[in-house]
Amino acid sequence: MAALNRQAVLYSAQKPSDTQWQRMEAFLQRRYDEAVTLSWTQDMSLKNGFRLECGDDIFDWSPEGRFRQLSQNLTSLTGAGPDIIPLMRETLHNWTPKAMAQTVGRVRAVQDGIVRVSGMADVFYGEILLFESGVRGMVMNLDEDEIGCILFDDDALIQQGSAVYRSGRVAGMPVGNAFKGRVIDALGTPIDGGEAIEADDYRPIEQPAPGIIDRQPVNTPMETGLMTIDAMFPIGRGQRELIIGDRQTGKTAVALDTIVNQKGKNVVCIYVAIGQKTSSVSQLVENLRKHGAMDYTVVVSASASAPAPLQYIAPYAGCALGEYFMYSGQDVLIVYDDLSKHAVAYRALSLLLGRSPGREAYPGDVFYLHARLLERAAHLSDALGGGSMTALPIVETQAGDVSAYIPTNIISITDGQIFLDSDLFFSGQRPAVNIGLSVSRVGGDAQTKAMKKATGSIRLDLAQYRELEVFTQFSSDLDETTRMQLTNGQMLMRLLRQKQYHPYPQHQQVILLLAAQARLFQHIAPKDMEACVRNLLAHVEQTQGVICRKIEQTGLADAEDLENLRSAAAAFMKG
Ligand code: ATP
Ligand code: MG
Repeated sequence: MAALNRQAVLYSAQKPSDTQWQRMEAFLQRRYDEAVTLSWTQDMSLKNGFRLECGDDIFDWSPEGRFRQLSQNLTSLTGAGPDIIPLMRETLHNWTPKAMAQTVGRVRAVQDGIVRVSGMADVFYGEILLFESGVRGMVMNLDEDEIGCILFDDDALIQQGSAVYRSGRVAGMPVGNAFKGRVIDALGTPIDGGEAIEADDYRPIEQPAPGIIDRQPVNTPMETGLMTIDAMFPIGRGQRELIIGDRQTGKTAVALDTIVNQKGKNVVCIYVAIGQKTSSVSQLVENLRKHGAMDYTVVVSASASAPAPLQYIAPYAGCALGEYFMYSGQDVLIVYDDLSKHAVAYRALSLLLGRSPGREAYPGDVFYLHARLLERAAHLSDALGGGSMTALPIVETQAGDVSAYIPTNIISITDGQIFLDSDLFFSGQRPAVNIGLSVSRVGGDAQTKAMKKATGSIRLDLAQYRELEVFTQFSSDLDETTRMQLTNGQMLMRLLRQKQYHPYPQHQQVILLLAAQARLFQHIAPKDMEACVRNLLAHVEQTQGVICRKIEQTGLADAEDLENLRSAAAAFMKG
Protein backbone atom coordinates (compact mmCIF):
# COMPACT_ATOMS: atom_id res chain seq x y z
CA MET A 1 0.00 0.00 0.00
CA ALA A 2 1.41 3.41 -0.88
CA ALA A 3 1.97 5.73 2.08
CA LEU A 4 -0.41 8.65 2.13
CA ASN A 5 1.15 12.03 1.45
CA ARG A 6 1.22 14.56 4.24
CA GLN A 7 -1.44 17.22 3.61
CA ALA A 8 -1.13 20.92 4.33
CA VAL A 9 -3.68 23.69 3.89
CA LEU A 10 -2.84 27.32 3.42
CA TYR A 11 -5.47 29.86 4.53
CA SER A 12 -5.35 33.45 3.37
CA ALA A 13 -7.60 36.21 2.05
CA GLN A 14 -5.87 36.49 -1.33
CA LYS A 15 -4.58 33.70 -3.50
CA PRO A 16 -0.78 33.43 -2.99
CA SER A 17 1.53 34.28 -5.90
CA ASP A 18 3.66 31.61 -7.56
CA THR A 19 6.84 32.63 -5.70
CA GLN A 20 4.98 32.58 -2.40
CA TRP A 21 3.62 29.18 -3.26
CA GLN A 22 7.07 27.81 -4.06
CA ARG A 23 8.54 29.22 -0.88
CA MET A 24 5.80 27.64 1.12
CA GLU A 25 6.41 24.25 -0.45
CA ALA A 26 10.14 24.54 0.17
CA PHE A 27 9.48 25.39 3.79
CA LEU A 28 7.27 22.36 4.25
CA GLN A 29 9.81 20.10 2.55
CA ARG A 30 12.55 21.36 4.89
CA ARG A 31 10.41 21.09 7.96
CA TYR A 32 9.02 17.60 7.47
CA ASP A 33 11.68 16.11 5.23
CA GLU A 34 9.11 14.59 2.90
CA ALA A 35 6.78 15.66 0.11
CA VAL A 36 3.75 17.56 1.35
CA THR A 37 0.66 18.17 -0.71
CA LEU A 38 -0.31 21.82 -0.34
CA SER A 39 -3.77 23.22 -1.02
CA TRP A 40 -5.25 26.69 -0.61
CA THR A 41 -8.46 27.80 1.08
CA GLN A 42 -9.74 31.33 1.13
CA ASP A 43 -10.33 32.84 4.57
CA MET A 44 -11.44 36.47 4.45
CA SER A 45 -10.93 36.94 8.18
CA LEU A 46 -7.15 36.78 7.70
CA LYS A 47 -6.84 40.21 6.11
CA ASN A 48 -3.10 40.48 5.49
CA GLY A 49 -1.70 37.38 7.07
CA PHE A 50 -1.93 33.67 6.48
CA ARG A 51 -2.16 30.48 8.38
CA LEU A 52 -0.63 27.17 7.39
CA GLU A 53 -2.05 24.00 8.91
CA CYS A 54 -0.30 20.68 8.58
CA GLY A 55 -1.66 17.87 10.71
CA ASP A 56 -1.66 19.05 14.35
CA ASP A 57 0.80 21.86 13.61
CA ILE A 58 -0.35 25.35 12.89
CA PHE A 59 1.94 28.14 11.66
CA ASP A 60 -0.03 31.22 12.45
CA TRP A 61 1.04 34.38 10.63
CA SER A 62 -2.20 36.23 11.07
CA PRO A 63 -2.04 39.40 13.18
CA GLU A 64 -4.10 37.55 15.77
CA GLY A 65 -1.62 34.69 15.92
CA ARG A 66 1.32 37.03 16.33
CA PHE A 67 -0.37 38.80 19.18
CA ARG A 68 -1.02 35.48 20.82
CA GLN A 69 2.68 34.67 20.55
CA LEU A 70 3.59 37.95 22.14
CA SER A 71 1.10 37.61 24.92
CA GLN A 72 2.36 34.11 25.65
CA ASN A 73 5.90 35.42 25.85
CA LEU A 74 4.74 38.05 28.28
CA THR A 75 2.63 35.79 30.47
CA SER A 76 5.50 33.36 30.81
CA LEU A 77 7.24 36.14 32.72
CA THR A 78 4.86 36.15 35.67
CA GLY A 79 6.70 34.93 38.70
CA ALA A 80 9.70 37.10 37.85
CA GLY A 81 8.83 39.08 40.95
CA PRO A 82 9.50 42.78 41.28
CA ASP A 83 11.92 42.80 38.31
CA ILE A 84 9.11 42.19 35.87
CA ILE A 85 9.13 45.61 34.17
CA PRO A 86 12.70 45.42 32.74
CA LEU A 87 12.03 41.85 31.65
CA MET A 88 8.87 42.92 29.85
CA ARG A 89 10.73 45.72 28.12
CA GLU A 90 13.36 43.26 26.97
CA THR A 91 10.78 40.81 25.67
CA LEU A 92 9.05 43.54 23.68
CA HIS A 93 12.32 44.80 22.19
CA ASN A 94 13.57 41.40 21.17
CA TRP A 95 10.30 40.11 19.86
CA THR A 96 10.23 39.03 16.26
CA PRO A 97 7.35 36.85 15.20
CA LYS A 98 8.63 33.40 14.39
CA ALA A 99 7.07 30.75 12.19
CA MET A 100 6.72 28.64 15.28
CA ALA A 101 4.76 25.46 14.89
CA GLN A 102 2.01 25.61 17.42
CA THR A 103 0.10 22.51 18.24
CA VAL A 104 -3.54 23.28 18.13
CA GLY A 105 -6.13 20.79 19.23
CA ARG A 106 -9.82 20.67 18.53
CA VAL A 107 -12.56 20.16 21.06
CA ARG A 108 -14.15 16.82 20.30
CA ALA A 109 -16.72 16.76 23.09
CA VAL A 110 -17.53 18.77 26.18
CA GLN A 111 -19.66 17.58 29.04
CA ASP A 112 -19.90 18.13 32.81
CA GLY A 113 -16.71 20.16 33.01
CA ILE A 114 -14.70 17.56 31.10
CA VAL A 115 -13.40 18.25 27.59
CA ARG A 116 -12.06 15.68 25.17
CA VAL A 117 -9.53 17.17 22.80
CA SER A 118 -8.10 15.59 19.67
CA GLY A 119 -4.89 16.38 17.87
CA MET A 120 -2.59 17.27 20.75
CA ALA A 121 -0.13 14.45 20.68
CA ASP A 122 2.68 16.22 22.53
CA VAL A 123 1.00 17.74 25.63
CA PHE A 124 2.12 16.50 29.02
CA TYR A 125 0.15 15.32 32.03
CA GLY A 126 -0.96 18.20 34.23
CA GLU A 127 -0.35 20.86 31.55
CA ILE A 128 -2.64 23.86 31.42
CA LEU A 129 -4.58 24.20 28.17
CA LEU A 130 -6.12 27.43 26.92
CA PHE A 131 -9.46 27.46 25.15
CA GLU A 132 -10.70 30.06 22.71
CA SER A 133 -13.04 31.84 25.12
CA GLY A 134 -10.30 32.31 27.73
CA VAL A 135 -11.30 29.21 29.69
CA ARG A 136 -8.45 27.25 31.31
CA GLY A 137 -8.21 23.52 31.80
CA MET A 138 -5.74 20.89 32.95
CA VAL A 139 -4.74 17.68 31.16
CA MET A 140 -5.78 14.64 33.20
CA ASN A 141 -5.98 11.79 30.71
CA LEU A 142 -3.58 10.90 27.91
CA ASP A 143 -5.30 8.39 25.66
CA GLU A 144 -4.15 7.03 22.34
CA ASP A 145 -6.07 9.35 20.05
CA GLU A 146 -7.40 12.05 22.38
CA ILE A 147 -6.78 13.69 25.72
CA GLY A 148 -9.13 14.32 28.64
CA CYS A 149 -9.01 17.75 30.21
CA ILE A 150 -10.71 19.12 33.33
CA LEU A 151 -11.95 22.73 33.28
CA PHE A 152 -11.40 25.39 35.90
CA ASP A 153 -14.12 27.64 34.50
CA ASP A 154 -17.61 27.27 33.12
CA ASP A 155 -17.91 24.72 30.31
CA ALA A 156 -20.83 26.57 28.67
CA LEU A 157 -18.31 28.84 26.91
CA ILE A 158 -16.72 25.98 25.00
CA GLN A 159 -17.97 24.69 21.69
CA GLN A 160 -17.29 21.52 19.84
CA GLY A 161 -14.66 21.99 17.13
CA SER A 162 -13.14 25.11 18.67
CA ALA A 163 -9.37 25.46 18.97
CA VAL A 164 -7.29 24.53 22.03
CA TYR A 165 -3.79 25.91 22.66
CA ARG A 166 -0.94 24.66 24.79
CA SER A 167 0.44 26.82 27.56
CA GLY A 168 3.60 24.79 28.07
CA ARG A 169 3.36 24.90 31.83
CA VAL A 170 1.88 22.80 34.59
CA ALA A 171 -0.87 24.09 36.84
CA GLY A 172 0.62 26.48 39.34
CA MET A 173 -0.23 28.85 42.10
CA PRO A 174 0.95 32.38 42.81
CA VAL A 175 2.54 32.48 46.25
CA GLY A 176 3.90 35.17 48.52
CA ASN A 177 3.81 36.89 51.86
CA ALA A 178 0.90 39.08 50.83
CA PHE A 179 -1.43 36.07 50.94
CA LYS A 180 -1.47 36.11 54.74
CA GLY A 181 -4.80 37.32 56.01
CA ARG A 182 -6.59 36.62 52.73
CA VAL A 183 -9.25 34.25 51.48
CA ILE A 184 -8.44 32.83 48.04
CA ASP A 185 -9.81 30.23 45.65
CA ALA A 186 -7.90 27.20 44.44
CA LEU A 187 -6.19 29.24 41.70
CA GLY A 188 -4.93 31.89 44.07
CA THR A 189 -7.48 34.56 43.15
CA PRO A 190 -8.78 36.53 46.15
CA ILE A 191 -12.45 35.94 46.94
CA ASP A 192 -12.73 38.12 50.03
CA GLY A 193 -13.62 41.25 48.07
CA GLY A 194 -10.22 42.77 48.78
CA GLU A 195 -7.69 44.11 46.31
CA ALA A 196 -5.51 41.97 44.03
CA ILE A 197 -2.69 40.12 45.76
CA GLU A 198 0.90 40.81 44.76
CA ALA A 199 2.65 37.48 44.39
CA ASP A 200 6.36 36.93 45.05
CA ASP A 201 6.61 33.72 43.07
CA TYR A 202 4.71 31.09 41.14
CA ARG A 203 4.92 27.45 42.24
CA PRO A 204 3.58 24.31 40.54
CA ILE A 205 0.79 22.81 42.61
CA GLU A 206 2.22 19.32 42.24
CA GLN A 207 5.74 18.91 43.58
CA PRO A 208 7.70 15.87 44.66
CA ALA A 209 7.90 15.53 48.44
CA PRO A 210 11.24 16.20 50.16
CA GLY A 211 13.44 13.08 50.28
CA ILE A 212 14.91 11.43 53.35
CA ILE A 213 18.17 13.41 53.27
CA ASP A 214 16.20 16.65 53.05
CA ARG A 215 14.42 15.97 56.33
CA GLN A 216 15.24 15.85 60.01
CA PRO A 217 13.35 14.16 62.84
CA VAL A 218 10.34 15.88 64.35
CA ASN A 219 11.49 17.45 67.60
CA THR A 220 9.56 20.66 68.22
CA PRO A 221 5.99 20.67 69.52
CA MET A 222 3.12 22.15 67.52
CA GLU A 223 0.92 23.04 70.46
CA THR A 224 -2.81 22.79 69.90
CA GLY A 225 -3.70 24.48 73.18
CA LEU A 226 -6.14 21.64 73.86
CA MET A 227 -4.98 19.83 76.97
CA THR A 228 -6.33 16.43 75.90
CA ILE A 229 -4.16 16.51 72.78
CA ASP A 230 -1.04 18.27 74.06
CA ALA A 231 -0.80 16.03 77.13
CA MET A 232 -1.64 12.66 75.61
CA PHE A 233 -1.25 12.85 71.82
CA PRO A 234 1.34 15.56 71.28
CA ILE A 235 1.82 16.79 67.72
CA GLY A 236 5.23 17.84 66.45
CA ARG A 237 6.16 20.37 63.79
CA GLY A 238 6.41 18.53 60.48
CA GLN A 239 4.08 15.74 61.57
CA ARG A 240 0.84 14.64 59.91
CA GLU A 241 -1.96 14.05 62.37
CA LEU A 242 -5.39 13.00 61.18
CA ILE A 243 -8.52 14.40 62.81
CA ILE A 244 -11.24 11.85 62.26
CA GLY A 245 -14.83 11.51 63.43
CA ASP A 246 -18.48 11.51 62.44
CA ARG A 247 -20.19 14.65 61.26
CA GLN A 248 -20.66 17.40 63.85
CA THR A 249 -18.21 16.09 66.41
CA GLY A 250 -15.98 19.16 66.60
CA LYS A 251 -13.37 18.20 63.98
CA THR A 252 -13.15 21.68 62.50
CA ALA A 253 -13.17 23.10 66.03
CA VAL A 254 -9.98 21.20 66.96
CA ALA A 255 -8.22 22.53 63.86
CA LEU A 256 -9.41 26.09 64.47
CA ASP A 257 -8.35 26.05 68.12
CA THR A 258 -4.93 24.94 66.97
CA ILE A 259 -4.77 27.85 64.53
CA VAL A 260 -5.89 30.32 67.21
CA ASN A 261 -3.25 28.89 69.55
CA GLN A 262 -0.46 29.75 67.09
CA LYS A 263 -0.85 33.44 67.80
CA GLY A 264 2.55 35.01 68.51
CA LYS A 265 4.33 31.71 67.80
CA ASN A 266 5.54 32.67 64.33
CA VAL A 267 3.66 29.91 62.53
CA VAL A 268 1.93 30.54 59.20
CA CYS A 269 -1.45 28.78 59.11
CA ILE A 270 -3.29 27.64 55.99
CA TYR A 271 -6.84 26.40 56.17
CA VAL A 272 -8.06 24.60 53.04
CA ALA A 273 -11.85 24.29 52.88
CA ILE A 274 -12.97 21.63 50.40
CA GLY A 275 -16.61 21.23 49.43
CA GLN A 276 -17.96 23.27 52.33
CA LYS A 277 -20.80 25.74 52.25
CA THR A 278 -19.67 29.27 51.42
CA SER A 279 -21.61 30.50 54.45
CA SER A 280 -19.74 28.22 56.88
CA VAL A 281 -16.41 29.32 55.42
CA SER A 282 -17.27 32.97 55.83
CA GLN A 283 -18.44 32.29 59.41
CA LEU A 284 -15.14 30.56 60.10
CA VAL A 285 -13.12 33.43 58.65
CA GLU A 286 -15.13 35.80 60.82
CA ASN A 287 -14.32 33.75 63.93
CA LEU A 288 -10.62 33.60 63.09
CA ARG A 289 -10.61 37.34 62.57
CA LYS A 290 -12.37 37.89 65.89
CA HIS A 291 -9.66 35.93 67.70
CA GLY A 292 -6.86 37.78 65.92
CA ALA A 293 -5.79 34.68 64.00
CA MET A 294 -6.40 35.96 60.47
CA ASP A 295 -3.17 38.00 60.48
CA TYR A 296 -1.08 34.89 60.01
CA THR A 297 -3.63 32.68 58.26
CA VAL A 298 -4.56 32.03 54.62
CA VAL A 299 -7.91 30.44 53.83
CA VAL A 300 -8.08 28.51 50.53
CA SER A 301 -11.67 27.75 49.69
CA ALA A 302 -13.18 25.54 47.00
CA SER A 303 -16.78 25.53 48.14
CA ALA A 304 -19.43 22.93 47.45
CA SER A 305 -20.65 25.00 44.50
CA ALA A 306 -17.19 25.22 42.88
CA PRO A 307 -16.51 22.87 39.96
CA ALA A 308 -15.09 19.47 41.00
CA PRO A 309 -11.69 20.25 39.35
CA LEU A 310 -11.21 23.20 41.71
CA GLN A 311 -12.14 21.08 44.72
CA TYR A 312 -9.68 18.52 43.46
CA ILE A 313 -6.72 20.89 43.16
CA ALA A 314 -7.47 23.02 46.26
CA PRO A 315 -5.38 20.99 48.76
CA TYR A 316 -2.43 20.86 46.35
CA ALA A 317 -2.68 24.60 45.83
CA GLY A 318 -2.75 25.17 49.60
CA CYS A 319 0.21 22.84 49.95
CA ALA A 320 2.19 24.76 47.30
CA LEU A 321 1.59 27.94 49.26
CA GLY A 322 2.68 26.17 52.46
CA GLU A 323 5.84 24.94 50.75
CA TYR A 324 6.73 28.48 49.79
CA PHE A 325 6.79 29.44 53.48
CA MET A 326 8.42 26.16 54.54
CA TYR A 327 11.29 26.48 52.07
CA SER A 328 11.89 30.03 53.25
CA GLY A 329 12.59 28.59 56.70
CA GLN A 330 9.26 29.22 58.41
CA ASP A 331 6.95 26.88 60.28
CA VAL A 332 3.61 26.16 58.64
CA LEU A 333 0.42 24.54 59.85
CA ILE A 334 -1.93 23.35 57.13
CA VAL A 335 -5.45 22.00 57.67
CA TYR A 336 -7.26 20.05 54.93
CA ASP A 337 -10.96 20.19 55.79
CA ASP A 338 -11.86 17.64 54.62
CA LEU A 339 -10.24 14.91 52.56
CA SER A 340 -13.40 12.78 52.35
CA LYS A 341 -14.98 15.48 50.21
CA HIS A 342 -11.73 15.76 48.27
CA ALA A 343 -11.87 12.05 47.46
CA VAL A 344 -15.49 12.41 46.37
CA ALA A 345 -14.59 15.27 44.00
CA TYR A 346 -11.78 13.17 42.56
CA ARG A 347 -14.12 10.21 42.15
CA ALA A 348 -16.57 12.37 40.21
CA LEU A 349 -13.79 13.56 37.91
CA SER A 350 -12.41 10.08 37.37
CA LEU A 351 -15.77 8.60 36.51
CA LEU A 352 -16.46 11.41 34.05
CA LEU A 353 -13.05 10.83 32.49
CA GLY A 354 -14.01 7.22 31.98
CA ARG A 355 -11.54 5.66 34.42
CA SER A 356 -12.65 2.35 35.80
CA PRO A 357 -14.17 2.43 39.28
CA GLY A 358 -12.78 0.25 42.07
CA ARG A 359 -13.75 -0.17 45.71
CA GLU A 360 -16.64 2.16 46.72
CA ALA A 361 -16.45 3.39 43.09
CA TYR A 362 -13.21 5.27 43.82
CA PRO A 363 -10.56 4.97 41.10
CA GLY A 364 -7.58 2.73 41.78
CA ASP A 365 -5.15 5.57 42.47
CA VAL A 366 -7.11 7.19 45.29
CA PHE A 367 -4.43 6.17 47.81
CA TYR A 368 -1.82 7.98 45.76
CA LEU A 369 -4.12 11.00 45.63
CA HIS A 370 -3.66 11.56 49.37
CA ALA A 371 -0.23 9.99 49.85
CA ARG A 372 1.42 12.42 47.48
CA LEU A 373 -0.30 15.31 49.23
CA LEU A 374 0.51 14.35 52.82
CA GLU A 375 4.09 13.28 52.09
CA ARG A 376 4.84 16.90 51.33
CA ALA A 377 4.51 17.76 55.01
CA ALA A 378 8.00 17.71 56.45
CA HIS A 379 10.53 19.05 58.90
CA LEU A 380 13.33 20.18 56.59
CA SER A 381 16.98 19.68 57.37
CA ASP A 382 19.01 22.64 58.59
CA ALA A 383 20.77 22.77 55.23
CA LEU A 384 17.39 23.58 53.64
CA GLY A 385 16.55 26.20 56.22
CA GLY A 386 14.94 24.01 58.88
CA GLY A 387 11.37 25.06 58.05
CA SER A 388 8.46 22.73 58.64
CA MET A 389 4.96 22.00 57.47
CA THR A 390 2.57 20.25 59.84
CA ALA A 391 -0.51 18.76 58.20
CA LEU A 392 -3.82 18.22 59.93
CA PRO A 393 -6.02 16.37 57.43
CA ILE A 394 -9.64 15.91 58.47
CA VAL A 395 -11.74 12.90 57.51
CA GLU A 396 -15.41 12.32 58.14
CA THR A 397 -16.60 8.84 59.06
CA GLN A 398 -20.07 7.31 58.78
CA ALA A 399 -21.38 6.02 62.13
CA GLY A 400 -17.86 5.79 63.56
CA ASP A 401 -16.69 3.33 60.91
CA VAL A 402 -12.94 3.86 60.68
CA SER A 403 -12.50 0.79 58.50
CA ALA A 404 -14.10 2.36 55.41
CA TYR A 405 -11.89 2.84 52.36
CA ILE A 406 -10.82 6.48 52.62
CA PRO A 407 -10.37 6.53 56.45
CA THR A 408 -8.13 3.43 56.45
CA ASN A 409 -6.08 4.84 53.59
CA ILE A 410 -5.44 8.10 55.35
CA ILE A 411 -4.87 6.48 58.76
CA SER A 412 -2.07 4.50 57.17
CA ILE A 413 -0.49 7.57 55.59
CA THR A 414 -0.51 9.81 58.69
CA ASP A 415 1.59 9.66 61.88
CA GLY A 416 -1.42 9.24 64.12
CA GLN A 417 -5.03 10.20 64.55
CA ILE A 418 -7.25 12.16 66.91
CA PHE A 419 -10.48 10.19 66.97
CA LEU A 420 -13.55 12.26 67.90
CA ASP A 421 -16.47 10.36 69.32
CA SER A 422 -20.06 11.50 68.85
CA ASP A 423 -21.26 9.86 72.11
CA LEU A 424 -18.67 11.80 74.07
CA PHE A 425 -19.52 14.96 72.15
CA PHE A 426 -23.22 14.72 72.98
CA SER A 427 -22.53 13.85 76.61
CA GLY A 428 -20.85 17.26 76.82
CA GLN A 429 -17.26 15.98 76.87
CA ARG A 430 -15.74 18.45 74.38
CA PRO A 431 -13.27 18.21 72.68
CA ALA A 432 -14.66 14.70 72.29
CA VAL A 433 -11.33 12.90 71.94
CA ASN A 434 -11.64 9.13 72.27
CA ILE A 435 -8.57 8.25 74.32
CA GLY A 436 -8.56 4.57 73.43
CA LEU A 437 -8.61 5.05 69.66
CA SER A 438 -6.41 8.12 69.31
CA VAL A 439 -2.67 7.87 68.91
CA SER A 440 0.34 9.96 67.97
CA ARG A 441 3.22 7.93 66.63
CA VAL A 442 5.73 10.72 67.18
CA GLY A 443 4.83 10.84 70.88
CA GLY A 444 7.09 12.32 73.54
CA ASP A 445 9.60 13.70 71.00
CA ALA A 446 7.03 16.32 70.23
CA GLN A 447 6.63 17.43 73.83
CA THR A 448 8.68 19.91 75.83
CA LYS A 449 10.48 18.58 78.92
CA ALA A 450 8.12 20.47 81.20
CA MET A 451 5.02 18.95 79.62
CA LYS A 452 6.50 15.49 79.58
CA LYS A 453 7.22 15.62 83.30
CA ALA A 454 3.83 17.08 84.15
CA THR A 455 1.82 14.61 82.06
CA GLY A 456 2.87 11.61 84.14
CA SER A 457 0.50 8.68 84.03
CA ILE A 458 -2.63 10.58 83.06
CA ARG A 459 -3.30 8.50 79.97
CA LEU A 460 -3.05 5.25 81.92
CA ASP A 461 -5.31 6.61 84.67
CA LEU A 462 -7.95 7.49 82.12
CA ALA A 463 -7.71 4.12 80.43
CA GLN A 464 -8.22 2.41 83.80
CA TYR A 465 -11.09 4.70 84.59
CA ARG A 466 -12.87 3.86 81.33
CA GLU A 467 -12.60 0.17 82.04
CA LEU A 468 -13.75 0.52 85.62
CA GLU A 469 -16.63 2.70 84.57
CA VAL A 470 -18.06 0.04 82.31
CA PHE A 471 -17.34 -2.71 84.80
CA THR A 472 -18.95 -1.03 87.81
CA GLN A 473 -21.90 0.48 85.99
CA PHE A 474 -24.54 -1.59 87.76
CA SER A 475 -22.91 -2.28 91.12
CA SER A 476 -23.75 -0.09 94.07
CA ASP A 477 -21.43 -1.24 96.84
CA LEU A 478 -17.92 -0.36 95.81
CA ASP A 479 -14.83 -0.54 97.93
CA GLU A 480 -12.99 2.62 98.86
CA THR A 481 -10.10 2.26 96.32
CA THR A 482 -12.41 1.67 93.39
CA ARG A 483 -14.56 4.60 94.37
CA MET A 484 -11.48 6.82 94.62
CA GLN A 485 -10.34 5.71 91.18
CA LEU A 486 -13.75 6.47 89.73
CA THR A 487 -14.00 9.94 91.20
CA ASN A 488 -10.44 10.65 90.10
CA GLY A 489 -11.29 9.58 86.56
CA GLN A 490 -14.44 11.68 86.51
CA MET A 491 -12.45 14.65 87.75
CA LEU A 492 -9.84 14.18 85.03
CA MET A 493 -12.49 13.96 82.31
CA ARG A 494 -14.10 17.10 83.65
CA LEU A 495 -10.75 18.87 83.67
CA LEU A 496 -10.11 17.98 80.04
CA ARG A 497 -13.29 19.71 78.89
CA GLN A 498 -12.39 22.90 77.14
CA LYS A 499 -14.47 25.59 75.54
CA GLN A 500 -13.95 26.45 71.88
CA TYR A 501 -11.41 29.22 71.19
CA HIS A 502 -9.96 28.94 74.72
CA PRO A 503 -6.60 27.31 74.22
CA TYR A 504 -4.47 26.86 77.35
CA PRO A 505 -0.90 28.14 77.09
CA GLN A 506 1.67 25.56 78.06
CA HIS A 507 2.39 26.70 81.61
CA GLN A 508 -1.33 26.56 82.42
CA GLN A 509 -1.49 23.00 81.15
CA VAL A 510 1.49 22.12 83.35
CA ILE A 511 -0.19 23.61 86.43
CA LEU A 512 -3.49 21.83 85.80
CA LEU A 513 -1.84 18.49 85.11
CA LEU A 514 0.23 18.73 88.29
CA ALA A 515 -2.82 19.68 90.33
CA ALA A 516 -4.85 16.84 88.83
CA GLN A 517 -2.20 14.26 89.65
CA ALA A 518 -1.96 15.53 93.19
CA ARG A 519 -5.74 14.89 93.24
CA LEU A 520 -6.42 18.45 94.28
CA PHE A 521 -9.75 18.60 92.45
CA GLN A 522 -11.14 15.50 94.14
CA HIS A 523 -13.70 17.37 96.22
CA ILE A 524 -14.79 19.96 93.71
CA ALA A 525 -18.35 19.63 92.48
CA PRO A 526 -18.56 19.30 88.66
CA LYS A 527 -20.47 22.56 88.31
CA ASP A 528 -17.79 24.51 90.20
CA MET A 529 -14.92 23.07 88.22
CA GLU A 530 -14.70 25.84 85.62
CA ALA A 531 -14.54 28.67 88.15
CA CYS A 532 -12.11 26.73 90.31
CA VAL A 533 -9.73 26.17 87.40
CA ARG A 534 -9.87 29.83 86.46
CA ASN A 535 -9.10 31.04 89.99
CA LEU A 536 -6.37 28.45 90.53
CA LEU A 537 -4.58 29.48 87.33
CA ALA A 538 -4.82 33.16 88.20
CA HIS A 539 -3.40 32.50 91.67
CA VAL A 540 -0.46 30.34 90.60
CA GLU A 541 0.42 32.64 87.70
CA GLN A 542 0.55 35.52 90.14
CA THR A 543 2.62 33.84 92.80
CA GLN A 544 4.91 31.76 90.54
CA GLY A 545 5.25 34.14 87.59
CA VAL A 546 8.96 33.43 87.04
CA ILE A 547 8.47 29.70 86.62
CA CYS A 548 5.46 30.22 84.34
CA ARG A 549 7.49 32.48 82.07
CA LYS A 550 10.39 30.05 82.07
CA ILE A 551 8.12 27.23 80.89
CA GLU A 552 6.66 29.41 78.15
CA GLN A 553 10.03 30.57 76.88
CA THR A 554 12.23 27.50 77.22
CA GLY A 555 9.84 24.58 77.69
CA LEU A 556 11.98 23.50 80.63
CA ALA A 557 11.11 22.92 84.29
CA ASP A 558 13.23 21.11 86.85
CA ALA A 559 11.93 19.07 89.78
CA GLU A 560 12.08 22.08 92.08
CA ASP A 561 10.02 24.25 89.72
CA LEU A 562 7.37 21.58 89.48
CA GLU A 563 7.30 21.16 93.26
CA ASN A 564 6.88 24.91 93.67
CA LEU A 565 3.97 24.95 91.25
CA ARG A 566 2.40 21.95 92.91
CA SER A 567 2.62 23.41 96.42
CA ALA A 568 1.33 26.78 95.26
CA ALA A 569 -1.67 25.00 93.75
CA ALA A 570 -2.16 22.90 96.89
CA ALA A 571 -2.02 25.97 99.10
CA PHE A 572 -4.66 27.69 97.00
CA MET A 573 -6.95 24.67 96.95
CA LYS A 574 -6.78 24.34 100.72
CA GLY A 575 -7.88 27.96 101.06
P1 ATP B 1 -18.96 18.91 60.21
O1 ATP B 1 -19.01 17.42 60.12
O2 ATP B 1 -20.25 19.55 59.92
O3 ATP B 1 -17.80 19.51 59.50
P2 ATP B 1 -17.41 19.16 62.58
O4 ATP B 1 -17.12 17.78 63.01
O5 ATP B 1 -16.34 19.91 61.88
O6 ATP B 1 -18.74 19.21 61.77
P3 ATP B 1 -17.64 21.48 64.22
O7 ATP B 1 -18.29 22.28 63.17
O8 ATP B 1 -16.24 21.76 64.58
O9 ATP B 1 -17.82 19.93 63.90
O10 ATP B 1 -18.45 21.54 65.58
C1 ATP B 1 -19.83 21.28 65.64
C2 ATP B 1 -20.46 22.19 66.65
O11 ATP B 1 -19.96 21.93 67.96
C3 ATP B 1 -20.17 23.65 66.37
O12 ATP B 1 -21.34 24.38 66.56
C4 ATP B 1 -19.14 24.02 67.40
O13 ATP B 1 -19.27 25.36 67.79
C5 ATP B 1 -19.46 23.10 68.56
N1 ATP B 1 -18.24 22.78 69.31
C6 ATP B 1 -17.14 22.19 68.83
N2 ATP B 1 -16.19 22.06 69.79
C7 ATP B 1 -16.70 22.59 70.90
C8 ATP B 1 -16.20 22.76 72.24
N3 ATP B 1 -15.00 22.38 72.61
N4 ATP B 1 -17.00 23.36 73.13
C9 ATP B 1 -18.23 23.76 72.76
N5 ATP B 1 -18.76 23.64 71.54
C10 ATP B 1 -18.01 23.06 70.61
MG1 MG C 1 -16.19 20.64 59.92
